This record gives sequence, C-alpha cells and structure tokens, in this order.
Amino acid sequence: MQISEDMLYYSKMTCPNCQREFQHPEVRSKYISLEKQDSDFCGYYTGINPIFYDVFVCKDCGYAFTRDSNTPLLDEERATIKTIMSGWRKEGHQYGGLRTLDQAIKIYNLAILCQELRNAKDSVKGSLYLRLAWLNRYLGNQENEMKSLQRALEFSKRTYEREAFSELKKELRMMYLIGELSFRTGDYKEAVKWYQAVIHHPQAENYPVFTRMARSRWQDAREEYKQNN
Ligand SMILES: [Zn+2]
Repeated sequence: MQISEDMLYYSKMTCPNCQREFQHPEVRSKYISLEKQDSDFCGYYTGINPIFYDVFVCKDCGYAFTRDSNTPLLDEERATIKTIMSGWRKEGHQYGGLRTLDQAIKIYNLAILCQELRNAKDSVKGSLYLRLAWLNRYLGNQENEMKSLQRALEFSKRTYEREAFSELKKELRMMYLIGELSFRTGDYKEAVKWYQAVIHHPQAENYPVFTRMARSRWQDAREEYKQNN
C-alpha cells in the first residue's frame, strides 16, 4: 500500500510547555491494517504505521509528549526542559506531516528525553521505551532494541509496584508484558515467574487471552531456562 498524505488528518493540540497550538498528524482508522503481532504486542502494518504518530511534537518549542503525558508542566519542570530545548527546538517543524521510521525513532527519543527530564510517570516512560524497541526491531538494530527493552522492563516493573491499575485487563496485560520483556532480555527464570503469576491470578479467567498467551510463552521460557542452566 502506497503511503500518502491523505491517510492523515490533523487534530488541534495545545503544547503543555509553551501553551501554543499546533496541528498533530494522525492516521485515519480506515487506513490502519494490522498484518501480524509479536508476542510483546509489536504490530506490523501492511501500509502506514500508526505507532509513528503516537508522539506529539510542538512545532514551536519542540516539546515531545504522548496522550498519557499531556499534562501541564510545573515551573521547575519547564525550567529543566528549557535547558535542553535550544539544541533541537527548530526540529519540531519537520514532524507535522508523514513520518519515516528514522523520524519516528528521533521523535521517540525526544519524547523520552522530555519525559525523563520532567520525571513523568513510570508507565509513560515504560510505554515510550517499549515502542522505541519496536521501531528498532523494524529497523533491524538489535543492539538498540535490547537497550530499549531493558529500560521498558525496568519501568514496567516500577509501574506494577507503584501505580494503581484501574482495570483488571490492564493489570494482567502488564504482568504478561513483564514476563515477555524478561524473556526477551534473557532472564528466563523471571519470565517463568511472571507468566505463572498471570496463569494463577484469581480473576484470570475473565481475560482468557492473557492466560492463553502466558501458557504458551511459559513453556517456551521453561525450555530456554533448561537449555541455559
Ligand atoms: Zn511548545
């Protein structure tokens, strides 16, 4: 499928840093076509990839954020971010239309920089690192993928420990994901532990999709663990 401008529409956003308005490109849902998905939810699309457009970049100040981190900045956070903005604030202009994989990687790195500096929630940082890992997987850059998966794992564990889950589905998904990230970063013992926690969760039967995935991956992780010990 040829990727073209008419696959996008524009939503009006207000920058939480400089308060100016800008247009954010989003993918029209009728053009989103998921072909397959990896066991850590990394999606492959036949045409345009909506993940490239999950980060908003202010065209005036360059501040990069996501829907989950679209909250006003405190004065001290604004001051911290200002110190690093001068270097790339002009780049914000480049991301208002179609985005390439290289640009998406740049934008996710900008968002990570902004959200780490302002000390955003662990779930925000974990989700950004997970997506950055997927982008590096598309590119075939295993070294950077591993680095991002490792960070995603750290922040996902902290999310699980420190943040309350409003829905059971989100909690089970996070537990499964921690198992999956442990597996992919080579900690098979830890992976087995988290998959088992999903399978034995007292309310797991409400979301059989996660128990099914955890069971299948639990066996894989056990095999790997036996072979490596
Ligand atoms: Zn701004």
